Amino acid sequence: TEDYRSAVAFVTGAASGIGAAVTTMLLERGAAVIASDLSEKGLAFHVDRYGDRVFPVRVDVSDEGSIEAGLAAGVDRFGRLDRAFNIAGVSKGAMIVDLPVEQWDFNVNVVLRGVFLSVKHEARIMRENGGGAIVNMSSLNAHVPMHTGAAYASAKAGVEMFTKNAALELADDGIRLNAILPGLIDTPLTQRRLTNGPLMEHWLTRIPLHRPGLPEEVAQAALFLAGSEASYITGTSLVVDGGWEIT
Ligand code: NAD
Repeated sequence: TEDYRSAVAFVTGAASGIGAAVTTMLLERGAAVIASDLSEKGLAFHVDRYGDRVFPVRVDVSDEGSIEAGLAAGVDRFGRLDRAFNIAGVSKGAMIVDLPVEQWDFNVNVVLRGVFLSVKHEARIMRENGGGAIVNMSSLNAHVPMHTGAAYASAKAGVEMFTKNAALELADDGIRLNAILPGLIDTPLTQRRLTNGPLMEHWLTRIPLHRPGLPEEVAQAALFLAGSEASYITGTSLVVDGGWEIT
């Protein structure tokens, strides 16, 4: 808790699901948060609850100019950047033989290019501040394939490897990077699957903890990895999946 009291954090995907949970947890622990999302309207509830400790900004992570401008505005407001949580993501699936190239590009551009562009510009700022910590949201699908998930899962596997490369390159700048691989988490992204009875019944038999995870349970892992308790952890991945991967 002490860790975050005077920290300045940047979050992508802060309007919904896991990103909203991370933003709330940071604010509860006293941090100032540059809360970004494609939908700026979706960020208003953070401002309503935490006032001027939140700087809401519209950012499209797949667009370099957008991420650069959003970060600059936030750092201008709070003076520096200590932690970053790259959580924005999309998942649009189809079987490979039916997958339009536009849909492939959409998944890869938001998920993989988005994390590359975010880290590139976060690290440039953190380097000047003497260091920092970054957490990237990958997925259990980086390790486990899923029907109709080829574009998403391939991009998430890319996020995991990109995180290792960035951790290697940025260690001398005092910047640690780690990835989180969530299994099935109860968020707006997964509502269609969570309300599909037969599918859920099948999936719950494969999850040793027999339930989907909560966004807060992923946020706990993210704040741990970006905090001082993880001071010797960099370039690794933490699976948060109720045991799915071991079945
Ligand atoms: P969500 O849909 O609830 O939230 C995602 C947020 O990202 C939304 O607010 C959306 O507006 C934002 N976003 C989408 N495209 C963007 C862009 N181009 N620029 C900026 N923001 C953009 O989803 P969630 O379940 O909270 O997922 C968060 C992250 O966790 C994603 O990267 C997702 O792939 C990953 N993940 C989720 C699960 C799960 O089961 N929910 C599992 C594994 C990984």
